[in-house]
Amino acid sequence: MRINTRDKTGLPLKKGLKVGEIAEKIRIDGEGRLFVDGIPALILTRSFLALIQQTMEELIGERGAALIFYRAGFRGGYNLAKSLKAYGLKPPAILQACLHTASLRGWGVFGVAELDLKKPKVDVVVRASPAEEMKGRNKPACHLICGFIAGIMQYLAEMCGKNVKIRGTEKKCIAKGDQYCEIVAEPPHAS
Ligand SMILES: [Zn+2]
Repeated sequence: MRINTRDKTGLPLKKGLKVGEIAEKIRIDGEGRLFVDGIPALILTRSFLALIQQTMEELIGERGAALIFYRAGFRGGYNLAKSLKAYGLKPPAILQACLHTASLRGWGVFGVAELDLKKPKVDVVVRASPAEEMKGRNKPACHLICGFIAGIMQYLAEMCGKNVKIRGTEKKCIAKGDQYCEIVAEPPHAS
């Protein structure tokens, strides 16, 4: 199955977020814990996330930091997709639900430029990503989101009976001057 819903500029159609939809998912229990959708959560500023990434890069190098963020994102995406299968959703709906969840939590506005489950391959555009806090780099910075999308796609590929390893690559990134971030996840030999 393919999804291709690009607008006139070639970007996926933008979906607006409503603050009410986010607010109704948040509650605080009697002991002061904050929950989003019933899950204990933190509200983290984007600048603090950038600070964590920059500190890791200083301590263990760019490659090591990138791998840690990518792997953590991969596991998070895989587990989120897996948890949604319990609702009886099909792969395209699982992908959309994962991306919508990430959007609601402030990770940017996600749009699917292409989903091809036969290859398998997904191409996701992210507007207003946290990379806005890391501008001025000469390399992509969204390792966490890149891993997240690859992890989702890994789960979807397995759902479809594909015995492949999915790898995410960030083709464009706001951190290096692009207008938006774009992540492609597919088997590494595919392109
Ligand atoms: Zn990026």
